[in-house]
Amino acid sequence: MPSRVAEWRAASVVKDTWKRPLRDLRISVVDRCNFRCPYCMPAEIYGSDYAFLSRQQWLTPGELRRIAGLFMQLGVNKLRLTGGEPLLRRDIAEIVATLSDLPGLKDLALTTNGTLLAGYVSELKAAGLRRITVSLDSLDPIVFREMSGERGELETVLEGIEAAQNVGLDPIKVNVVVQKGKSDRTILDLLEYFRGTSVIVRFIEYMDVGTLNGWRLDEVVPSKTVLDLISARWPLRSLEPNYRGEVARRYAFEDGKGEIGFISSVSEPFCGDCHRARLSADGTMYTCLFATEGINLREPLRAGASDADLVGLLQNIWRQRGDRYSELRERKMNEKKESRIEMYRMGG
Ligand code: SAM
Ligand code: SF4
Ligand code: SF4
Repeated sequence: MPSRVAEWRAASVVKDTWKRPLRDLRISVVDRCNFRCPYCMPAEIYGSDYAFLSRQQWLTPGELRRIAGLFMQLGVNKLRLTGGEPLLRRDIAEIVATLSDLPGLKDLALTTNGTLLAGYVSELKAAGLRRITVSLDSLDPIVFREMSGERGELETVLEGIEAAQNVGLDPIKVNVVVQKGKSDRTILDLLEYFRGTSVIVRFIEYMDVGTLNGWRLDEVVPSKTVLDLISARWPLRSLEPNYRGEVARRYAFEDGKGEIGFISSVSEPFCGDCHRARLSADGTMYTCLFATEGINLREPLRAGASDADLVGLLQNIWRQRGDRYSELRERKMNEKKESRIEMYRMGG
């Protein structure tokens, strides 16, 4: 017999128009970044006078906890903090501490470019962070510099990863955006470095997010090409997903030297299992990475809306959701895209 709590939980899980539940919330805590990766925030557009959100517009740690708790009432059990660069928020450890003890939370993770990581890992671990993802496109200093918009220091990022290992954040994942003519040339060297450590490297197809990165299909390297390249050097076997809706396809090195993954939004869209909502630093909710508009939650929150009102609002938004951009990419690519929200803003 299911318990009353289990029955109540099952009844309160909200589903969208494609019967997809809401399981996962990505929270962008800040829209600023200390990198200018050309595929995300091209330096020529995001100059020193660019108007980012002001601090007053950011949700506070208390507001983040309240909103995350409301999402959890509807089925969310996994939170990821991201940005922009989340470690640019000085109160990031406080945010982690405020979220990590939410009752029922199964997973709390953070995605960072790693530059400030070494200085933060102990505080983050103590605050309750369980695992971390570091974005690192190449170990070739020239390719790395180019793909960070001439901002990043490779050694600092590697020190950050080592520091995360030393405090026991586990697993540590490394995200590599594969762009033709750039990071695709340095994949094997990067794997040579991380193979045999517990770090899980994941290769992400370059996506047409936002409107400003000048994305071209011919710069996308399909995951299959990367898989063939890697398995010609180190034989691989596929692994079962850890859970339904896992975004990355997993593989293990046959020689037992660890695991890698592929996130193939362009060549193998996974909209059918997309259980993810996004929240920007100013409290706007988005139901798809390719959304052209969002819903402002901060306004009702600061105007004193009750929990029941806010849960009702979230429920309505999710019930109306019909997004599946990646499955319709070819058709959508030819439509107007001027108003698509940038990834650093809605939370990558
Ligand atoms: N600044 C942090 C970082 O880079 O890890 C967190 C935010 S960033 C927007 C989150 C992830 O989105 C990173 O792993 C980044 O590589 C990825 N990303 C950004 N633009 C992308 C694009 N056009 N295609 C694929 N992945 C992208
Ligand atoms: Fe910054 Fe991350 Fe975007 Fe690069 S991918 S510009 S590090 S937010
Ligand atoms: Fe989810 Fe939208 Fe990406 Fe499809 S395109 S997987 S609906 S975020």
